[in-house]
Amino acid sequence: MRAHWLFAKNASRYGKVSECNAFTYPQMTFVIMSQCVDIKDGRCVDVCPVDCIYEGSTMFYIHPEECIACALCETVCPVDAIRHIDDVPEQEKMYVEKNAAFFSEGNSS
Ligand code: SF4
Ligand code: SF4
Repeated sequence: MRAHWLFAKNASRYGKVSECNAFTYPQMTFVIMSQCVDIKDGRCVDVCPVDCIYEGSTMFYIHPEECIACALCETVCPVDAIRHIDDVPEQEKMYVEKNAAFFSEGNSS
């Protein structure tokens, strides 16, 4: 399943369309970036009300379609690794792609 198709379907759900990445990842709102790598303390997982944060080998990833964009995870991360997709710094943009790739490879329940 191609990532852009996965995130394009149901694009208007929750009305959380990203302006910067609206074409490629219209469903993605919050993204976990490099600061999580190898820390993985799981605080974001503990507070997520919909259990949409999944564990990878080196970091966690937020499922774009399951996330309800409540921003709770962003407030508890001790290393400021979680940002709204429109606020992801240029040097961290690769983590938007990594997040999409993680779920396009079937890593969800
Ligand atoms: S924004 Fe809310 S729903 Fe989305 S991953 Fe963070 S805690 Fe979970
Ligand atoms: S709270 Fe931050 S560092 Fe901890 S697992 Fe979540 S994203 Fe990674």
